[in-house]
Amino acid sequence: MLNRKKWFLVIFSVFVLVGCSSEETHINPSEAVEKEGLTIITSFSILGDIAGEIIGNRGTVEYLVPIGEEPHEYEPVPSDFQKVSDSDVFYVNGLNLEEWLEKLVANVGEIPVVAVSDGITPIMLEGNNEEDPHAWLAIENVKTYVNNILNDLIERDPSGESEYRSNAEQYLKELDGLEAWINEMIESVPNENRFIVVTENAFKYFGASYGFQTEGVWDINSQEEGTPGQVGRVIDLVNDQQIPSLFVETTVDKRYMQTISLDTGVNIAGEVYTDAVGPEGSGAETYILMMKHNVETFVSGLK
Ligand SMILES: [Zn+2]
Repeated sequence: MLNRKKWFLVIFSVFVLVGCSSEETHINPSEAVEKEGLTIITSFSILGDIAGEIIGNRGTVEYLVPIGEEPHEYEPVPSDFQKVSDSDVFYVNGLNLEEWLEKLVANVGEIPVVAVSDGITPIMLEGNNEEDPHAWLAIENVKTYVNNILNDLIERDPSGESEYRSNAEQYLKELDGLEAWINEMIESVPNENRFIVVTENAFKYFGASYGFQTEGVWDINSQEEGTPGQVGRVIDLVNDQQIPSLFVETTVDKRYMQTISLDTGVNIAGEVYTDAVGPEGSGAETYILMMKHNVETFVSGLK
């Protein structure tokens, strides 16, 4: 028979054990989350949306560069390092986009980094040997992104293969629909008006796919921006080519294009999305919605 003192010890030990185990589950919530599926981090919001379409309910996707900021010259904040090191894989665009990536990856250890643009034929920047990163602005390239993400997810989580394949198939169908819609929409733009003038010349892949010439005050945000020579060159071009409308971007300083508009008398027809999806309530919260918004804005300005 246990005496009163020994009973007390048994009960006390049970309390200690229960206390320890519940404390452990509180200390490591990330372990519990990990068991529910893959945790994907992407460099910017557009990739986050596309990856989210493929992973569906089998995992979580986050992105680093906040909506409204541009991903070329982003400065990672301390919480970004934590987000990346807590993830199973880091999806980046590649093609010269994430110039801040090296510093980030060097500080987060062994996280696999996958460039989802792999296999795309790059368009080069003007006057040098670097690739233009904005491949996602042509739908056919995003289909390559989807297939690269699909293959990577299957490799990391083979038991989810059929779900990932069905999500990707559904999304590829939506992209086909978007492409058909774009081709139909742009029919109302006369050939001589097919000229997209924006601040950062990000629509080269879009232009190559859908038959538009493109021009920017500068070629890419990470280069020198907005010199009087760059602004003057676009003013001359707008006058010489009789450009019907100008456009500004949600993630680029609008003052340069405003100067060009004042000088030439040509209107800014609207704001387009290049390097980020739109915020909640914008109607451009996903890649597909932002592309629709862009095409509607181009067509209304140029037709
Ligand atoms: Zn850009």
